[in-house]
Amino acid sequence: AEAGDEGLATVGLTKAFGGVTALDAATVSFQHGKVNALIGPNGSGKTTFFNCVTGMIRPDSGRATYRGRDITAKPPHRIARAGIGRSFQLCRVFPRMTVLDNLLVGARPGNLAGQLAGARKREEVERARGWLTRMGIEHLENAEARNLSWGQQKLLELAGVLMSDPDLILLDEPAGGVNPALIDRICDLVRELNAEGRTFLIVEHNMDMVMSLSDHVVVFDRGRPIAEGPPSVIQSDERVLGAYLGV
Ligand code: ADP
Repeated sequence: AEAGDEGLATVGLTKAFGGVTALDAATVSFQHGKVNALIGPNGSGKTTFFNCVTGMIRPDSGRATYRGRDITAKPPHRIARAGIGRSFQLCRVFPRMTVLDNLLVGARPGNLAGQLAGARKREEVERARGWLTRMGIEHLENAEARNLSWGQQKLLELAGVLMSDPDLILLDEPAGGVNPALIDRICDLVRELNAEGRTFLIVEHNMDMVMSLSDHVVVFDRGRPIAEGPPSVIQSDERVLGAYLGV
């Protein structure tokens, strides 16, 4: 991707919950091909931003586009088909389903039973096994997801996201609650997948991870961006420090 190659972008994105303005006319854009991070103090609107651009909640006003195409308030499956995948802070896997079945279901949103029956094509199974191998959890394919460690469940969720072959992957706190060895593994995977052409947008509180992994960092405060730039610049930005200290 070249400089100026716009990926996900919003103009004036606004969302209020009752009297709380979670997103306040947020205008922001993330470059295609990069590892982007979205940071900011608790309550600054990061999750609401993810939810709006993935169609999980409807913004009150403003627009979202992906690679120039309008995705504002489109349903989640349409946004997924446009090439955007996401993981969740609290990790969405089916706990009583096997690891392999989790991937075969996740590949196609809609009716669960029907999908599972229809999805057992060899090709799909091979693709699922390929992602499990990539995540280093292929030996667990017949285990129930609930028996995996938290970090392994996060890897399983990422494998599920990759089953739909997204160009842009939104990760909501990928390092949250994960042990340091697995955080390194997740960082390596993000780097590899990015080198293979996938764009990332990562919400993460682990600043070491954000600063070592990202090409570009956007800082939210009170529902809108207050600073953006490469990690080296963001780290020494006084507005950013002020936002975190609540000044
Ligand atoms: P962050 O992810 O940066 O911590 P959020 O997007 O979760 O921020 O929250 C932004 C603000 O919106 C917070 O004040 C939060 O309490 C509020 N908020 C988020 N979701 C809801 C909701 N479903 N109902 C009411 N308030 C919400």
